[in-house]
Amino acid sequence: ETPSNYFFTTHKNAQEIYRPRKRFDHKGKFGNLLIVGGSKGMIGAVQLATKAGLRAGAGKTTALVPACGYEIIQATIPEAMCISDPSRNHIVASTLVSKYSAIGIGPGIGQHEQTQKAVRSIIEDAEKPIVLDADALNMLSENDEWWSLIPENSILTPHLGEFERLAGIQFINSFDRLEAASKMAKEHNVIIVLKGANTAICLPNGQIHFNSTGNAGLAKGGSGDALLGIISSLLAQKYKPYEAAILGVYLHGKAGDYASADKGFESMVASDVIESLGKAFF
Ligand code: AMP
Ligand code: MG
Repeated sequence: ETPSNYFFTTHKNAQEIYRPRKRFDHKGKFGNLLIVGGSKGMIGAVQLATKAGLRAGAGKTTALVPACGYEIIQATIPEAMCISDPSRNHIVASTLVSKYSAIGIGPGIGQHEQTQKAVRSIIEDAEKPIVLDADALNMLSENDEWWSLIPENSILTPHLGEFERLAGIQFINSFDRLEAASKMAKEHNVIIVLKGANTAICLPNGQIHFNSTGNAGLAKGGSGDALLGIISSLLAQKYKPYEAAILGVYLHGKAGDYASADKGFESMVASDVIESLGKAFF
């Protein structure tokens, strides 16, 4: 009998991945998270990802943003540290990334040519799994040779449109799309989180884990930014990349379910999802 490659993440599965904090734990144990993103008009995206990173438990959280976002982050997220890029409206410089235990890149980052250079150099210097979302993924579709620079077991979180750009194909059939995502994960040794209802997490070993939580109230700007923050925060806390992806997607959906119960599908926003994360943690 061939074992199936398909899994469905239940509450019990997610809880088994989760590691509760212990009485004498200190912040040094929970890692040092860096979120890289933002550009003029899109600072909210990196703001949401940073807040989600804190709410998901990272020991220390820093946002790297263009200068126009510096005061916004400092004024609205007192718990986070902030590094200001030399350029005002988009990120042009990378930063010393080796001291961070995990890096999430992409929310609101835009696609400026200089930003692409900075992102490339962060990816090259990372030397450990990173999380890539949004325009960082769109850059990857344009710069095919970047694939070889991405550390193995990195986590890519495309929605369907971003995945089609990555794959360079438009899919008519959702099974073909899933097969292509799984093939991409195996070929490039990365984790592909194909977002949507029942997000599919494709692992390099061929396993596909379907998520059981979440609802259509998450179909709204900012949801994906929260997810990037959560997954990279778990990675910073030394969850293995596949654990961070499966648990992060589960918690994000569960928090979305609490947010919808409170606010309703239409009215819930990503900030409500982030504020509900505490209830989602078992
Ligand atoms: P993004 O498109 O980058 O903002 O990401 C959207 C997030 O919301 C992903 O985590 C999706 O899985 C989730 N999401 C969007 N629509 C739905 C839906 N109809 N049901 C469940 N989750 C959804
Ligand atoms: Mg997105």
